[in-house]
This record gives sequence, structure tokens and C-alpha cells, in this order.
Amino acid sequence: MYTAVAIDGPVGAGKSTIARECAKRLGFIYVDTGAMYRGIGLYCDNTGVDISDDNAVERALSDIALEIKLEDGTQHIILNGKDVSEDIRRPHISMAASKVSAIPAVRKFLLELQRSFADNNNVIMDGRDIGTVVLPNAQVKIYLTADDEIRAKRRYDELIAKGEQVAYEDVLADLRQRDYNDMNRAVAPLKQADDAVLADTSGLDFDGSVALIENIIKSRAKLL
Ligand code: C5P
Repeated sequence: MYTAVAIDGPVGAGKSTIARECAKRLGFIYVDTGAMYRGIGLYCDNTGVDISDDNAVERALSDIALEIKLEDGTQHIILNGKDVSEDIRRPHISMAASKVSAIPAVRKFLLELQRSFADNNNVIMDGRDIGTVVLPNAQVKIYLTADDEIRAKRRYDELIAKGEQVAYEDVLADLRQRDYNDMNRAVAPLKQADDAVLADTSGLDFDGSVALIENIIKSRAKLL
């Protein structure tokens, strides 16, 4: 019997960096589901599929092969044979991912791929609907959040460090828009699962956040 940890929350709450570090410490695999939505957003961007046309995106799915490879705990995303792990992080692909993620056929397309990891591994999986839809029986569910201006500042620093030309105000506006989209879509909206622990990292640095999440996982999964 494998252990599943579901971490959901808004943009830039630190889900992926914290989850990756906790997975490393606990010997679990880390699965980033946002990267899969980004892969579909990237495909549409590369090929000119209109992301505001649900039917066009749905038709495009039959041309998309997404593979997830884990190398030394790092997830690589392969889109039709090409490693696009870097390309999917571009800011305009974030918004494309947010738009395509509201399309029911897209969510259905990714669901089995996401669940397959938890069938065969101890996993920490992060996203927006992991505790509510993808892994409703996860032993540990965490809703990770922080104040939106703090999240925007973290995301801004990350993008600047990567050499992206962005303005803080745009990062904040984009983050609020994506959170709004995620919380208000009809299918699998972002919300705290009834049985999820709320973790707010506003006043915590990275080490403090990792310690908090690691402790929640250990006590809830009875790993202590
Ligand atoms: O987590 P990340 O910011 O990489 O996710 C990109 C987008 O994918 C999010 O803005 C969200 O709209 C969507 N997403 C989702 N469900 C998930 C993970 C991500 O709808 N489980």
C-alpha cells in the first residue's frame, strides 16, 4: 500500500519547491501536475491552436503525447518527443495553461496519467485539484497558501533570476487572474478539500516552510 500526499493551493504558494524538497527527504516521488497543463498550453502556443476555442483544443489533444520522466527526483516533461521542461515555465505559457485547464476534456485527458503515479509509488503530488478530484483518498492533504503579494514577490524574484523581463505589477495581476480562473471554473475548481490541513507560509522562509510541511506529512502519514 502506497502513501499519497496531495498538496493544492494558489499560484506561487511554493508548492513545487517545498514538495520537491519534502519528497527528497522522505524518499517519495514528486509529481508536478501544473507542468502537464503547461505542456498542453505550450503545444497550443507552438502550433497556433486557439486556446479560447474549447473544441479546437479538444481536437488537438489527439495530436499530443505527454510523457513524464523522473531523473534524480526532477520531473522532465516530454511533449511529442521533445523535452520542454524549460519552455513551459515562460510567463505567457502560465496563462495558456490556466485557460486550457478549464476545459473538461483537457482535465479528463490528464487524469489517468496523474493517477498512474500514485498507483505504483509513494507520491507527493501538487496542483489545484489533487485532494479534491485526482487523489480523493490521499492519506495526507495539504492546502498551501500565502498572502498574494508575498506570492507575487517570490514568483517575480524567480522569473528575474531566470533572466525574464517582467514587472512586479504584471506578475501580481497575472497571479490574481490565474487564481480567479482556477477558483471559479466549473470543473475541478481550486478549493481546500474538507479533510485538508491549511498551511500558510506568509511568515516563513523556505526552510521554515519545508519543516512545517514535512511535519504535517510525517504526523498525518504516521511516519514519525
Ligand atoms: O502549478 P502551475 O502554476 O504550474 O500550473 C499551471 C496552471 O495549470 C494553473 O494556473 C492551473 O490553471 C492549472 N492547473 C490545474 N490543475 C492542476 C494543476 C495546475 O488546473 N492540478
